[in-house]
Amino acid sequence: MERLSFDLHLHSCLSPCGGEDNTPAALAGMCALAGINVVALTDHNTCGSCAPFCRAAEYYGVLALPGMELTCAEEAHVVCLFPDLAAAEAFGALVREKLPPIQNRPAVFGPQIYMDEEDRVLGEETAFLAGAASIGIYEAAELVRSFGGAAYPAHIDRDSFSLLANLGLWDPAMGFPLAEVSRNCPPGLFERPDLRGVPHFDGSDAHYLDQILDAHQYMDLPERSTRAVLDWIRAGGPGPD
Ligand SMILES: [Zn+2]
Ligand SMILES: [Zn+2]
Repeated sequence: MERLSFDLHLHSCLSPCGGEDNTPAALAGMCALAGINVVALTDHNTCGSCAPFCRAAEYYGVLALPGMELTCAEEAHVVCLFPDLAAAEAFGALVREKLPPIQNRPAVFGPQIYMDEEDRVLGEETAFLAGAASIGIYEAAELVRSFGGAAYPAHIDRDSFSLLANLGLWDPAMGFPLAEVSRNCPPGLFERPDLRGVPHFDGSDAHYLDQILDAHQYMDLPERSTRAVLDWIRAGGPGPD
């Protein structure tokens, strides 16, 4: 068994609200400095920067999963993680078809910048990534699983764009194996009847480099691989408290 620290919720400068210093390479390098062993890039509704991020993470010796933070139809955010770039990009292409057909307004929502792993600007995404995809929250877990991935609701304790804020309660019928909370999750949240026994961990949801958290939570894996991370999540991650 290997004990690995992790942060599976990070945004690059491809997210409209992500800092322009959050280049794929800078993110991977900062995670390495923070002592994180396993990371995932989860830009809003796109996997478009996962390839340079994964290459940069490999350079820094960090295991990276390609991912996405999906805004589902109910406007709750769902972290979606994949075993490899091919699966992530195929899922990304599907989500793209499900986004509202409107253009980003960089002055209002922020620019959406593609960069390679050497911080070279490759271009700008013009589609509006901050919108909601027409994928229902009851569909998301199974859909992501059909691409070989795993999904779970993001920052459920937040009062916006979260499963609890937008749907009111945790329903096991959604099929999520666990929940993500923000670092400032109120103590006692998981004493609620609907959340009792729901495994959870946190994600930094870093949109700026200084929001990356130092290593503080760990997963025990039989091997250091993306598939082992996904198996650990599907099996309920850290398990109930
Ligand atoms: Zn979010
Ligand atoms: Zn996020």
